[in-house]
Amino acid sequence: MEKIILKRGKEESLDRFHPWVFSGAISSPTDAIEEGDVVEVVTSDGRLIGRGHYQIGSIMVRMLTFDDAPIDDEFFASRLRQALGLRKVLGLARPDNNAYRLVHGEGDFMPGLIVDIYGDTAVMQAHSPGMHFSRDIIARQLVSLPGLGVSNVYYKSETTLPYKAELDPHNDYIIGGFSTNVAVENGLKFHIDWLKGQKTGFFVDQRDNRQLLRSLSHGRNVLNMFCYTGGFSVYALAGGARAVTSVDSSAKAIQLTQANIDINFDDASHHRAVAEDAFKYLDAMEPGAHDLIILDPPAFAKHRGAIRNALRGYQRLNYAALKKIARGGILFTFSCSQAISREQFRLAVFSAAAQSRRKVRILHQLTQPADHPVNIYHPEGEYLKGLVLYVE
Ligand code: SAH
Repeated sequence: MEKIILKRGKEESLDRFHPWVFSGAISSPTDAIEEGDVVEVVTSDGRLIGRGHYQIGSIMVRMLTFDDAPIDDEFFASRLRQALGLRKVLGLARPDNNAYRLVHGEGDFMPGLIVDIYGDTAVMQAHSPGMHFSRDIIARQLVSLPGLGVSNVYYKSETTLPYKAELDPHNDYIIGGFSTNVAVENGLKFHIDWLKGQKTGFFVDQRDNRQLLRSLSHGRNVLNMFCYTGGFSVYALAGGARAVTSVDSSAKAIQLTQANIDINFDDASHHRAVAEDAFKYLDAMEPGAHDLIILDPPAFAKHRGAIRNALRGYQRLNYAALKKIARGGILFTFSCSQAISREQFRLAVFSAAAQSRRKVRILHQLTQPADHPVNIYHPEGEYLKGLVLYVE
């Protein structure tokens, strides 16, 4: 096995179990190592730190283990058993809830791998060449994992792998094929479009926040901005909302939302779906028209360089909603940008509140659910931030 030798003292963060080795920390030549290879990481005085997947880029090794365990079928089987064990502890795999994240990268000690479960189908995404080359082993382990009940594995990595690695991945079933694409979340049904949809087809990370929204929706006139599959809209209707308007700039998202409303409710005449730009919609909206607004936009900052503009975007969006929300209104506002910290997001919303001159209180501070665990040694794994505000 190829070895990566660290520069003197560069083992410090690894000794604290941070799972990444940056290119600047490496002293040995790497020309003979292929992208995706499993490498041994050792200190300058020859002490073994562990093993990980090698990749060309600023993060050169993603650690899989901090000992000398072989990275074989049994390694993946055991990691997946642990991941499923946690989801069972969390009570997420039940007849009325079969949509959840089974593997959340570093948070499940499998950097570079995402697996979402939708009933009997697992949708798998590789973010590193190493996981791409391990896809068949992982797929086999998924269908044989006791208690998981998965018979189809769809591989979806065309847009998640580093372009320069020239891996040319194809989105396709590795095992099985299409069965049903209707999954259940907290007793509500959703069509999951893993073939054409964003990410793995559904944003499972908003499950707990949608459940909270359900409990606050009774009798309210709800506006769900950036609705995508209509997740928040379905929960609002289930919670007894008086009316729900779903807005997304994508016509495809509006169709999906309508389909998800129709599969759950016989009469949804109090739901309206509009294909429109969020900022335009808020600009034209009557003040006081809605007393519950959800703002769940796509990541405004996809990398560090975009932070300033992104913060301005969050401020502008939240100001537009805060200015017009009815008195006694509730605002659910989110940022899923990993590059933006909880404090930065809160400050952007604070500035928007001050600018709107409304009386605003924070009712809840939200984050990603427990099936998106954050490895305590890898704080970069925390990405979803939300606030629930009461606006007078
Ligand atoms: N809230 C959703 C996830 C949102 S994903 C959920 O719970 O599942 C972000 C969505 O924002 C996408 O569907 C995208 O089409 C939409 N979008 C992006 N830019 C937009 C804009 N300027 N106006 C309205 N929608 C937009």
